[in-house]
Amino acid sequence: MTYKKMLSPLDLGWTSLKNRVLMGSMHTNLEEIDGGFQRAAIYYAERARGQVGLIVTGGIAPNPEGCVAAHAAKLTTHEEVTQHRIITDAVHAEGGKICMQILHTGRYGYHPKIVAPSALQAPINFFKPREMDEADIQRTIKDYVQCALLAREAGYDGVEIMGSEGYLINQFIALRTNHRTDAWGGTYENRIQFPVQIVQKTREALGEHFIIIYRLSMLDLVENGSSWEEVVTLAKAIENAGASLINTGIGWHEARVPTIATMVPRKAFAWVTKKLKSEVSIPLIAVNRINTPETAEEVLADGCADMVSMARPFLADPDLVLKAMENRSNEINTCIACNQACLDHTFQLKISSCLVNPRACHETEIQYKPTENPKRIAVVGAGPAGMAYAHIAALRGHHVTLYEASDKLGGQFNLAKAIPGKEEYGETIRYYQVMLAKYHVNIRLNHRVTAEELKNENYQEIILANGIIPRKLNLPGADNSKVVSYSDVLQNKITVGKKVAIIGAGGIGFDVAEYLTHQPTSENEITTFLREWGVDHEYTHPGAVTTPAPAPSLREVYLLKRSGGKHGATLGKTTGWIHKASLTHKGVHMLSDVEYIKIDEQGLHIDIKGSSQILDVDHIVVCAGQEPSRELYDALLAFGVAAQLIGGAHEAAELDAKRAIHQACTLAAEM
Ligand code: FAD
Ligand code: NAP
Ligand code: SF4
Repeated sequence: MTYKKMLSPLDLGWTSLKNRVLMGSMHTNLEEIDGGFQRAAIYYAERARGQVGLIVTGGIAPNPEGCVAAHAAKLTTHEEVTQHRIITDAVHAEGGKICMQILHTGRYGYHPKIVAPSALQAPINFFKPREMDEADIQRTIKDYVQCALLAREAGYDGVEIMGSEGYLINQFIALRTNHRTDAWGGTYENRIQFPVQIVQKTREALGEHFIIIYRLSMLDLVENGSSWEEVVTLAKAIENAGASLINTGIGWHEARVPTIATMVPRKAFAWVTKKLKSEVSIPLIAVNRINTPETAEEVLADGCADMVSMARPFLADPDLVLKAMENRSNEINTCIACNQACLDHTFQLKISSCLVNPRACHETEIQYKPTENPKRIAVVGAGPAGMAYAHIAALRGHHVTLYEASDKLGGQFNLAKAIPGKEEYGETIRYYQVMLAKYHVNIRLNHRVTAEELKNENYQEIILANGIIPRKLNLPGADNSKVVSYSDVLQNKITVGKKVAIIGAGGIGFDVAEYLTHQPTSENEITTFLREWGVDHEYTHPGAVTTPAPAPSLREVYLLKRSGGKHGATLGKTTGWIHKASLTHKGVHMLSDVEYIKIDEQGLHIDIKGSSQILDVDHIVVCAGQEPSRELYDALLAFGVAAQLIGGAHEAAELDAKRAIHQACTLAAEM
């Protein structure tokens, strides 16, 4: 039986999900460190054990100039084959299948030796590529084939040829980046020769039983990208050239449309795969923002694709498919699409991980082994830090009581999930709720525990995860009724006026601005998203980009900061630009170098570089950072009772949920 047949559509239903879910390619930076292949093998094997049908590795270059960065992973020699063998053996031992992605970055590589069809610098790179000559092109095609041969020698079940996201192959295909006048440029037929010959020659060299996935850019989302007719032409040519499967690629890295961030609705791009469905006969794979089995089933049941690809969801939970197959999908630790520990790490050349699962790519370092010494443990505060600690300690066999002052679990994540586009953060609360019940954590809601009570209970360990206190303003008029806290605003405790100033432009200031400017609509959320970001759903423009048409802002908002420079510099590397673009679309006034003078009935008096002005706003929302909550810790100390601080209670400066959960899980793993 050929792999084409093995991977063709099966019956719907949980039990078939294994065969219809692909773990998409993610660069983890593991292959670039000492002992990284051993760590990568353990990481992939854990996902294979979790029943994912087919894994695709992170991108591996077919030659040095195609590397992501200088000395990044490539497969060009027999010595390198030995390293990859460690991965394939581990995956096969778990009954899994694994393909290696061949990625030539072209003008996106971060090193001086980059090449491209034309010498055009990418707007997101400071290196300029050299234009490839005929010999370069012929050699590069051979390098792809050789790389695939070496991949087979290393035990891979197939390869994915990366033809999307604006990398080398995509650069040949699109007029935007291919200005050549020879046989590799000009007409569309000429421009697609590069990928077609790669697939054709790879198939000829590898025979029919080797999986060849081609990742095809179905939406370039950049000016001068491919038209729909061209996408169809390419897909047919790739099928004829011998690909087994076509995976969907959405958006070049330089596109100004978010494609995987949390504010992108689930399955927002499945429609484009569906559009291609009737044009080819090999199976198609849908991608992007498919993060739950239910969403995967919807995509499949709607006939959008034959398989779905999930990438980050397997960082968040290696057992996603297994849990779905066993009807335990409420136990899945859902990827909230924050990018904070995965993509942001990748682009900073750090080892990837996951905000909600710090074990991801750190499986050898963080282990949750059953304890030989069960203890009675009190955890105070059920925010991300407290929930994560209680969960891991209880699953290891400790007896855990979790105190929470409010009426619900979640801490500040209850505020985060109120932000339009951050609803996914509610999934983390749901996950912990289910897991805390499963491991019999004694949850005491509406219980603001005191030092005396903790002392009297004689716990063997006390973990304080009682969070932060929002920083107060210290200026004349700070007690004016116009001044409100972000938590009151986000809990709808006050009716905010039409003109608002936000003091502080950190993560929470940005989120509050999004909340206050958001105009709800009655239309489908995917339609709204595509319109607001200028994605041409009708596909009448090349690249499917059109003018963004955001809904008008609900309020006039000023987002203020004392420091100089542009807004958003402290936000996530891969998401900061999205938050900023969204607020720019809504006409938010972003003022830097602001000195706050006073607040009175006229509004907020400020000074910017010697120029005074009054912002005649109805409300001033304080988002000026946070201080650790230490009252309880100090009271325990006074009783002579030891306690450990985690999360915001430990250190509020630059504290985010990634650090809070990581700290909680590593401490609970060692307790
Ligand atoms: P908290 O979440 O503050 O939880 C502390 C808990 O302790 C609270 O539930 C409190 O009620 C309880 N408590 C306090 N005293 C007691 C007591 N004596 N007895 C019992 N219970 C007590 N972070 C990110 O990484 N990414 C984001 O995108 C992000 N977005 C955010 C958006 C908003 C609007 C906000 C407000 C925060 C956001 N954060 C984000 C920050 C993130 O939520 C915090 O870093 C994280 O919640 C800190 O976790 P924690 O458990 O330390 O504290
Ligand atoms: P923050 O990011 O530290 O921002 C607080 C802002 O308030 C600072 O940028 C500072 O800017 C200003 N400020 C500080 N002291 C002030 C004072 N005394 N008076 C006036 N302004 C003052 O903190 P946050 O916004 O409260 O967020 C808390 C944590 O949650 C952060 O660690 C953040 O990473 C995390 N979070 C992350 C996201 C995300 O999308 N990743 C979203 C929300 C929150 P100036 O000094 O320039 O004025
Ligand atoms: Fe998903 Fe965030 Fe984890 Fe990345 S860090 S896998 S986006 S939850």
